[in-house]
Amino acid sequence: MKIKVSEISEDGLSLTIRKDKNHLEKLLGKEGEDDFICNSSLLANMRVEKFRAGTVIISGKVKVSLLLRCVRCLDIFEKSLNINLNYTFLPFFTKGGSAKEVELTGEDLEFAFYHGDEINLLNIILEEIILAVPYKILCQEECLGLCAVCGVNLNFNECRCRDDRCDPRLALLKNFRSKN
Ligand SMILES: [Zn+2]
Ligand SMILES: [Zn+2]
Repeated sequence: MKIKVSEISEDGLSLTIRKDKNHLEKLLGKEGEDDFICNSSLLANMRVEKFRAGTVIISGKVKVSLLLRCVRCLDIFEKSLNINLNYTFLPFFTKGGSAKEVELTGEDLEFAFYHGDEINLLNIILEEIILAVPYKILCQEECLGLCAVCGVNLNFNECRCRDDRCDPRLALLKNFRSKN
């Protein structure tokens, strides 16, 4: 999904982008990310406007749902993303006339350069999805994780491993029960 800057009219462009789940999965897979998978199609409503000196402002809303794996309990859970994006793109000029690659990095995020006459709208959206995935993926802030001894998911199950070791009250109760 590439936009030619020279073709953006005074009124700007309003674009609706849809990508089905499988296609989206392939696109994101190319980025080398494998700690999440897409669980829905992607819907993006984008607005592209051109201003003086080739400045292009891209804004919009992106909706997608991902399946993520919690690092603590290893459970897979769904996370719906509603991303608002807003970028200012400036034309990239070089003195020698030969353009060199400028990668989008964290610091440049809301502010970037484009080369030649093209802006790849889809790449911007994909970057934004990847950035919306938290660095440390947790199903919930208070996720209890897995029992290190028996491996049950402590969010949904209880186990006695810890009780046996640490909690003297429960140990007493256990002795009491086994005697009777
Ligand atoms: Zn968890
Ligand atoms: Zn246990």
